[in-house]
Amino acid sequence: MKFLIFSDIEDSAKQVMSFLKGKGDFVLYTTEKGESLTKYGAQKIVLLTGKPEVKGISSLLSDEFSSGGYDLVMIASTVLGRDVASLFSGQKSIEVIPEIFDIKFNSGTVTTKRYGLGGKAVIEEESKSKLFTFLSGLSDDVPGDGSSPIETKNIPEGVVKILAIEQKKAKEVNLEKANIIVAVGRGLGKIEGIQQIEPLVKAVRGELAGSRPVCLDYHWLSEDRQVGYSGRTVKPKAYVALGISGQIQHIAGMRGSKVVVAVNKDKNAPIFQEADYGIVGDLYQIVPKIVSYL
Ligand SMILES: Cc1cc2nc3c(=O)[nH]c(=O)nc-3n(C[C@H](O)[C@H](O)[C@H](O)COP(=O)(O)OP(=O)(O)OC[C@H]3O[C@@H](n4cnc5c(N)ncnc54)[C@H](O)[C@@H]3O)c2cc1C
Repeated sequence: MKFLIFSDIEDSAKQVMSFLKGKGDFVLYTTEKGESLTKYGAQKIVLLTGKPEVKGISSLLSDEFSSGGYDLVMIASTVLGRDVASLFSGQKSIEVIPEIFDIKFNSGTVTTKRYGLGGKAVIEEESKSKLFTFLSGLSDDVPGDGSSPIETKNIPEGVVKILAIEQKKAKEVNLEKANIIVAVGRGLGKIEGIQQIEPLVKAVRGELAGSRPVCLDYHWLSEDRQVGYSGRTVKPKAYVALGISGQIQHIAGMRGSKVVVAVNKDKNAPIFQEADYGIVGDLYQIVPKIVSYL
C-alpha cells in the first residue's frame, strides 16, 4: 500500500504521517519547509515551491498520482486541502470521502470513519474510494528517528494568473498551532465586546477565535478564526469558551483541547459538559475578574 499525502500545514502533516505509520509506504507533498517533517517515516518529502494555488497543486498531485504508483491519496483537511481534494476528485473522477479520522484496509475496499449529523454520530462506510481528507486535530503526533530525503517541485501555474500580491494587513492567524485559545460566541452580543476580551487574550498570550455566528454571520471576527465543524479544528493546551453554547458543530472543532474553561450565563448550556472548569455568569463581569488575577 502506497499513500500520497498532501498537507499545507506542518502539524496536520505530522498527524497524517503518524496515523499512517505501519499501514504502508507514504510520500508527503507539502508547502511547509519544516525540517522536523523528515522524522515521520516518509519515503521522501516533496517540498512544493511557488504559488500555493489550488489548481496548480491539484494538477501536480494528479500527475504524481498517475506516475508514482500510489494506491491512495490522503489530504489533510485544511482550508486549502479541502479545495485541493475537491478539484483532484473532479480531475481524476475519484469519489472523495471527507473528514475521516480512521481507516481500515480490506481486500479491495476500505472502511472509513467520519462524523455525521454535525458530530452527533459516527458514520462507518465501506467503499472503494482512493481519496480521503483526514480530519486534523484528533490524532497524536509521533515522530521517529528517521530522516526522509527532501525533493523540491515547482507548483505549475494554474488558471489564475497572479498580477500582484498585496500583503494582508491583518496578522495571519494559525489557530492550529496556538497553545491557548480564547473563543467568543454569540453571547458576546456586540462587536465592541471584542475589546473587552482582548486583555484576557493578551494576558494568557493566546489567540482569539470564535463560533460560526461570530465569524461568519456577524463578522465580529475574520472567517479564519472560526472553530468548528466547518471551520478550524484546534487542539490547544487550553481553550477558553466565552458565551458559546456548545453546539455539537462547535465542539467538533475543539474537542481535542487539553483543558476547557467555559463561561456562560446559562448553567444548562451544553458547553459545560465539555468543560473542565465552568463558570456560570455574565462574561462581561467574569473576564475582567480573571484578568485581575493573572
Ligand atoms: C452544517 C453546519 C456547520 C456548522 N459549523 C459550525 C462551526 O464550524 N462552528 C460553530 O461554532 N458553529 C457551527 N455551526 C453552528 C452551530 O450549530 C451553532 O449555531 C453555533 O455554534 C452557535 O454559536 P454560539 O454558541 O456562539 O451561539 P449560541 O448558540 O446562540 O449561544 C450563545 C451562548 O451565549 C450565552 N450567553 C449570552 N450572553 C452571555 C453573557 N453575557 N455572558 C455569558 N454567556 C452568555 C448563552 O447562554 C448561550 O449559551 C454549524 C451549523 C451547521 C448546520
